[in-house]
Amino acid sequence: MIMANRLDRGFFRYQEEFEAKALSVLRSGWYIMGNELKAFEEEFASYTGAKYCVGLASGLDALWMAFRILGIGAGDEVIVQGNTYIASVMGITMNGATPVFVEPDEYFNIDTKKIEEKITERTKAVLVVHLYGQASKMDDVVSLCAKYGLRLVEDCAQSHGAAYNGQVTGTFGDIGCFSFYPSKNLGAFGDGGAIVTNHKQIADDMRVYRNYGSEKRYYNKVVGTNSRLDEIQAGLLRVRLSHMKELEEEKALIAKRYLAKIDNPCVKLPGVRENASMIWHQFVVRCEYRDELAAYLSDHGIGSIIHYPIPPHLSEAYQYLGYKKGDFPITEKCVDEVLSIPMYNGMTEEEQSEVIDVINSFRR
Ligand SMILES: *Cc1c(COP(=O)(O)O)cnc(C)c1O
Repeated sequence: MIMANRLDRGFFRYQEEFEAKALSVLRSGWYIMGNELKAFEEEFASYTGAKYCVGLASGLDALWMAFRILGIGAGDEVIVQGNTYIASVMGITMNGATPVFVEPDEYFNIDTKKIEEKITERTKAVLVVHLYGQASKMDDVVSLCAKYGLRLVEDCAQSHGAAYNGQVTGTFGDIGCFSFYPSKNLGAFGDGGAIVTNHKQIADDMRVYRNYGSEKRYYNKVVGTNSRLDEIQAGLLRVRLSHMKELEEEKALIAKRYLAKIDNPCVKLPGVRENASMIWHQFVVRCEYRDELAAYLSDHGIGSIIHYPIPPHLSEAYQYLGYKKGDFPITEKCVDEVLSIPMYNGMTEEEQSEVIDVINSFRR
């Protein structure tokens, strides 16, 4: 049995380091907003090349708090791709703002040629999602945002370290939002998130906002929230961050083998955008007979996952936006065809070969 993902393999590789760190935090007597968080924020900022990082409790918090800090709310529109994880959209709507969907390009990112036609006088921001670890076409997005005076927020929950033209995702606009959910490339052992920014004011505001709006203990400047990255997670993230390069390279090697050896006319392999350096979060193939392929894999003991089976505009949660099937045909076709096949740190060559052989033997 080859599972779609194996988080235990990533843990066991550095087990001693993780356990030593957890123990040292437990024994320190300091569990929230301490030295581990401070050190992680500095190290993660430098990993992305941003000036500031603020640790938060989740990726969703990073998203909704980003729009909150930027003052985007009721009556405002935010442009976002249609084929994203629903958290991207919730980050917008939790503030009362309206998501305006744009179809994806062939790399599963926002189709930058289709942004301009969606801009109205209510448009306040663009949220790009670097889905599956692939950087969006940022030169186009940055120039459109400059042309129309729009804020730029990046959902980097799946793109830690991915770059476009050598610049790391999360640093192109006002705020880059990260998740450290365990299955993300930089995953914690529980929930966690962060924003990165080059603007001191945004970083300062975010620090105040995450801690009940208080800069000084018990003196509250604004009505904030509780969204703090705790010391244990920050410490464990520091351990994982110190190994990111080898972890990324290992997944890139698996991807390279898949790209070279998966050969089935029914199965379309993912492409890598020109000038982009992908970090492999998911290995997403497309297949017109996706459900049959998934069932075939499962019959042969191989797990797979659909990221994501229902696009936000057709989700029950967003019925109130009034969309119906057929409104975003490219998004919907994509949703019907994508399948993430197993790719995880610690995946053996035998496991990779088995996945390759089974996919190659699939016939319709
Ligand atoms: C995981 C994810 C989020 C949400 O992160 P959480 O830490 O689970 O809140 C947001 N956007 C995308 C694209 C994600 O993959």
